[in-house]
Amino acid sequence: MVRTRIAPSPTGEDIHIGNLYTALINWAWAKKNKGKFIVRIEDTDRSRLVRDSEQKILKTLKAYGLTYDEGPDIGGPYKPYRQSERLDYYKKYAEELIDKGVAYYCTCTKERLDELRTLQQKQKQIPKYDKFCLVRQTDVKQEIKKGKQFVIRFNVLSGKEIVFRDVIRGDIKILSDNLDDQVLLKSDGFPTYHLAVVVDDYLMKITHVIRAEEWLSSTPKHILLYKAFGWDMPIYAHVPILRNPDRSKLSKRKNPVWASWYLKQGFLPEAVLNYLALMGWSHPKQIEIFNLEEFVKVFDLKNIKSVGPAFDQVKLEWINGEYIRKTPDSKLKSLIFESLEKKYPEDLIEKTVPLVRERIKKLADYLPLCEFFFEKPKKYNLDLSQKKDLLKRIYEELSKISSWKAEVIGEKMQNLAKKLGVKNSEFFMTLRVAITGKKISPPLNESMEVLDKKECLQRLDNLV
Ligand code: GLU
Repeated sequence: MVRTRIAPSPTGEDIHIGNLYTALINWAWAKKNKGKFIVRIEDTDRSRLVRDSEQKILKTLKAYGLTYDEGPDIGGPYKPYRQSERLDYYKKYAEELIDKGVAYYCTCTKERLDELRTLQQKQKQIPKYDKFCLVRQTDVKQEIKKGKQFVIRFNVLSGKEIVFRDVIRGDIKILSDNLDDQVLLKSDGFPTYHLAVVVDDYLMKITHVIRAEEWLSSTPKHILLYKAFGWDMPIYAHVPILRNPDRSKLSKRKNPVWASWYLKQGFLPEAVLNYLALMGWSHPKQIEIFNLEEFVKVFDLKNIKSVGPAFDQVKLEWINGEYIRKTPDSKLKSLIFESLEKKYPEDLIEKTVPLVRERIKKLADYLPLCEFFFEKPKKYNLDLSQKKDLLKRIYEELSKISSWKAEVIGEKMQNLAKKLGVKNSEFFMTLRVAITGKKISPPLNESMEVLDKKECLQRLDNLV
């Protein structure tokens, strides 16, 4: 039974778009193998916790349709799924490593560790703990009995080659000399990431650890822990991290990074996931628009490329536009209505949707284009003060129309322009700005039909 997981830390406003990508791959791999997808909250770094972050993360995952089978809010056979509620497990397993002689207590003060680091840096050595407490465990235990603060460290033996296989990156080898005697359990009783992740992935029977490449350097530490416990290792796959177009890591300064931002902008969840699926992977038929079901069918972990793909907003908008065009009018109307927090009349939105569906790339493009349907223009993008005569003639002509239909309006206006000898471009630009306030708008005759006769005449009347 394939079991995958994501393990977000509730340290940000919401789930990062890069983590949403990792979530998609985990979700899809579980689905493909008829397995389970699990969410575990890694909240052991108490100093970085952000209030409500966990709720936001879970809410956003659901909004994208990446539903999970087990998680902190729904439980499951290996609950709890929040690390702060699993402290007893970490203590038990840290002590097990002490009993096995592969971990030790350390009572070094922060001052000593700082001094050590400064010295090593001066001597151009890689900063590492010097195993000072390892050789004096009897004394250390006495100190602890007297109430001294302590941590538990892993004893990394030097000269060992650590080898593991990554589905995406192949075989990876590293020498244990480069690894520090990592802290497993902190003085506040909380585990470090390394201990907690290994214990939980083991207890939760995770078969595939699929996570971002930034965790690759931690994996050798985890391998040592699996070996020390005598546990079978999961399969590892480190997916590429998303990058800015200049190849730097996707960051808040250059791109919006919170996954819910895209929803607020009116990107459709399916479109965002479709776009993310294309990060470092391509459809065997080279098609770019496909639904999740299709993705699950044809996708394989090993076909993900290891190079960091650039996150390209323009391409995302293009894909989103394609999804919008595929959405039926009535559905699109509801999505726009919801995105505007139900503040605009639904029936009017319904009438305008066919006029703009080809032009909008995301739901947030709707209002700037269509605001004039809901209220009179507050300003005009063209000086109409010299056009009063023309507007008056237009007013008279329009008031004669009894069947207020786009074709009729169009025909009457064409004829009037001809009769007055005004160039079409000038004539219609004047009318467009008078009605919509803008030089660019949805098709004018159709828009006027939707606005209705009375409203159009009033707008012209106001100007003359
Ligand atoms: N807590 C880590 C994160 O925020 C999880 C890393 C992992 O998946 O092992 O991404």
